[in-house]
Amino acid sequence: MAREKRRFVCVTCPIGCEIDVIHDDGKIISMEGNKCKKSGEFVLQELIEPMRVLTTTVRIQGAKWPVIPVRTDRSVPRRLFPRIMRQIKNTDLQAPVNMLDVVVKDIAGTGAHLIATRTMHRE
Ligand code: SF4
Repeated sequence: MAREKRRFVCVTCPIGCEIDVIHDDGKIISMEGNKCKKSGEFVLQELIEPMRVLTTTVRIQGAKWPVIPVRTDRSVPRRLFPRIMRQIKNTDLQAPVNMLDVVVKDIAGTGAHLIATRTMHRE
């Protein structure tokens, strides 16, 4: 791969620095816009395999609301989001569910668990 210029928004902390990176086949040549050194690890990971925590909702039966908010318990490869969302689309939960309960283990074979981010009682 030839030398390439890319812009990233660092999601490591809420400041969200916009970082202009020049890299050569994944080797960082220069970086501008970052306010701290943590961005180096973030940018390297972005170049290799972007990782994010996925937050969404899942259908739930027997609760006050039809869906419950959930997230993965760790970062997962962003390219696997469509596969994870397909599995979530085919998932129905039953109330009650407590906050931080694991609602799907090893979601889409990623090794991450899907956890509830609020409690929903049985209505
Ligand atoms: S570069 Fe540092 S200060 Fe900027 S968003 Fe990333 S972690 Fe936060």
